[in-house]
Amino acid sequence: MAVVKTSANSELFRKLPSMDEVLREAAFASLTANYGHELTAGAARKVLGRVRDEIASGLLDASGVDVALSDLGESVEREIRKSLQYSLRRVINATGVILHTNLGRAPLSEAAIEHIRETGASYSNLEFDVAEGERGKRDVHVDGLFRRLLNDDGWDDSREFSTIVVNNNAAAVLLALNTLADGGEVIVSRGELVEIGGSFRIPDVMTKSGALLREVGTTNRTRVSDYANAISERTRLLLRVHRSNFEISGFTEEAPMAELAALARERKIPFMEDLGSGALFDLRSIGINGEGTVGDSLRAGVNVVTYSGDKLLGGPQAGMLSGAPELIARMRSNSLFRALRVDKLTYAALEATLLAYVRRDHDAMPALRMMRLSKEEIGARADALQKRTAGQKIRCETIDGESLLGGGAAPSSVLPTRLLSVTCEDETADELSSKLRASEPPIIARVEDGCVLLDLRTVFPEQDNAIAAALARICISG
Ligand SMILES: *Cc1c(COP(=O)(O)O)cnc(C)c1O
Repeated sequence: MAVVKTSANSELFRKLPSMDEVLREAAFASLTANYGHELTAGAARKVLGRVRDEIASGLLDASGVDVALSDLGESVEREIRKSLQYSLRRVINATGVILHTNLGRAPLSEAAIEHIRETGASYSNLEFDVAEGERGKRDVHVDGLFRRLLNDDGWDDSREFSTIVVNNNAAAVLLALNTLADGGEVIVSRGELVEIGGSFRIPDVMTKSGALLREVGTTNRTRVSDYANAISERTRLLLRVHRSNFEISGFTEEAPMAELAALARERKIPFMEDLGSGALFDLRSIGINGEGTVGDSLRAGVNVVTYSGDKLLGGPQAGMLSGAPELIARMRSNSLFRALRVDKLTYAALEATLLAYVRRDHDAMPALRMMRLSKEEIGARADALQKRTAGQKIRCETIDGESLLGGGAAPSSVLPTRLLSVTCEDETADELSSKLRASEPPIIARVEDGCVLLDLRTVFPEQDNAIAAALARICISG
């Protein structure tokens, strides 16, 4: 803001010390000793600038300026601390959306964090074969685990399928299209030309990969014969894409997976599926149908499946390409792979996550644990919170509701839950939710029909206390 000096405020401006004077004061000597000259001087300049702006806009009178100057040391220290805070920080997810893309998708397991800590803080055998004493490949750390998980009996680690890992599923799709179809055509149903949040659009990725999109069928109906009729000498790939966050209902038809696989086999064209969420865990066990696993797709005859690490898999951000060893080997030797590969921290988190699947310890992954929570377990915690926080100014009740998987998985499937519905005297729902977001850690809630709704399914039980304390602070004390 431009500082306007008038005769009325020039008196006030004269009260302000120079930077030299400020830094010579005793309070500032200790700040400089703790934080160094640059941070202290920078913060002091910022605080003094703010006081100057407030004088110019008539917000401060003489006594206001005196108060601001007497608090100068504290204000500057607050400013320094603020400037040293992390921007990326934890929040409490009370939305009930388990794989919330804006909130970092899947939280990592304890074992994943521990494995990152141990291998990330030290040197590791990332690309070193310890037994042979020679250079190794980073893929080995997870490829064997994927083989065990994707084969039927869990122990057969024959080379039926192999897996490589890249930065995310978008990168996996790009790498696969570029490797298998650069300069040729890829046949896709018009009903699957989707955009997934964050600007991932199938036609755009196709263009970037150098492949040509050959659309077949209509938005609502695509038959196997549509694919068959489109095959020519230019065809390099049949592609199926999971529709993720939208569904087509009504008069619809989709080519059955097994028939498409048979067509691809017969015409000797690879068949790829962008599965998106990519569960390794059978969601039917928690009552969600229609979302197959990666293994289901491979066994149905899909040659390459791409999927995310931080959606239903419950691990770190990553993109997997699993499938026929000869196709995966071609992707591995594409120079794009070198640009899209992941670092040791991702391998560490992924390896720990996959080992939990091998041990069948699904509750080790927070996202899977949250999916498996029963409405009764969530209801008991919501009731306890309700009893603790209900008071004069606050109305809390528990009601039936629905949690969402998120991450584009089974978009119409919901998990029954119990919600804590909170209304607070003197506060609109938007004000209350904004005060919850201003808590430390921030609490992110849903607002529906003038009520703040908290779904404890996505709240770690040890965070229930923080929610009770925040509600008490906001609604009871003021
Ligand atoms: C989520 C999703 C993607 C993008 O995956 P990222 O891991 O976020 O890059 C691509 N395709 C489908 C079908 C998806 O659901």
